[in-house]
Amino acid sequence: MSEILIHTENLSFSYTDETGADEHPALDGITVDIKKGEYVAVLGHNGSGKSTFAKLLNLILEPTGGRLVIDGIDLTDHEISDEELLRLRRTVGMVFQNPDNQLVATIVEEDVAFGPENLGVPQPELRQRVDDALEAVGMTSYAKHEPHRLSGGQKQRVAIAGVIAMMPKCIIFDESTAMLDPSGRKEVLDTIRMLNREHGITVLNITHYMNEAAMADRVLVINDGKLLLDGTPDEVFAQRELLCEVGLDVPQCAALIHELRAAGLPVKGDRIATTEGCVEMLAELFENLETR
Ligand code: ADP
Ligand code: MG
Repeated sequence: MSEILIHTENLSFSYTDETGADEHPALDGITVDIKKGEYVAVLGHNGSGKSTFAKLLNLILEPTGGRLVIDGIDLTDHEISDEELLRLRRTVGMVFQNPDNQLVATIVEEDVAFGPENLGVPQPELRQRVDDALEAVGMTSYAKHEPHRLSGGQKQRVAIAGVIAMMPKCIIFDESTAMLDPSGRKEVLDTIRMLNREHGITVLNITHYMNEAAMADRVLVINDGKLLLDGTPDEVFAQRELLCEVGLDVPQCAALIHELRAAGLPVKGDRIATTEGCVEMLAELFENLETR
């Protein structure tokens, strides 16, 4: 059985207002297990609590309720020691939405070195990690370049290199493709998939794009701070009505299948999340119609 990397039980968080009083919970009782090596997409409309969830897992915020265990360390049953904190910070890395806010140095390779240097990684290991990270994201030839001159997709890949140089077990991408053009999005998505498939890094991809979510092994849908759906992309996107109710959509190919069924066509199968799955279902439909 695969090992659990992140375990939450009724995980909750409330921000406090100016008077110090708790506001309506931003995260309200999330119970979920994320296994090592999983590729999980997190969907939810604006304000549903996705970033709050990410910040709890990344130790930027402390839970106000429930239980949180990361890589075997329970953060909610005892005072975290400095040693544990350091280990946890190495375990979960995060890539944010705006690439410009994440780059701190004036040279690409210095930027990538920033995180591991702060973790106390000595030379020559630091050099090796920076080189490996730049290679992994395909940015080796830009090592001496100035980050601000790069395209959005390249900047995000440098930001990702900075995170993987810290050798995390898990990377959370908080709408990291939202500000990119289609080619930049593809660069980053290809990089995310490669990190998951080839390096075994656990991925949480928070996204607004349904077809991005369809690439994951598993989709979590958060609504109003609660976990609404948890399943494979095919299972989640079969729930079109429920998703519509909470302001979300399904990938276009899935919408087409739902519409054809609503029109009375007998489309069989459940591989609704991806274009390839839908094409297979339609091919079978046409075959059955012809042989009738
Ligand atoms: P999402 O990332 O899904 O858009 P967030 O986790 O950012 O959602 O926000 C969840 C809820 O918490 C929203 O109601 C939002 O207004 C509130 N919130 C987020 N950040 C803060 C903050 N720093 N202070 C107070 N409320 C916040
Ligand atoms: Mg957010």
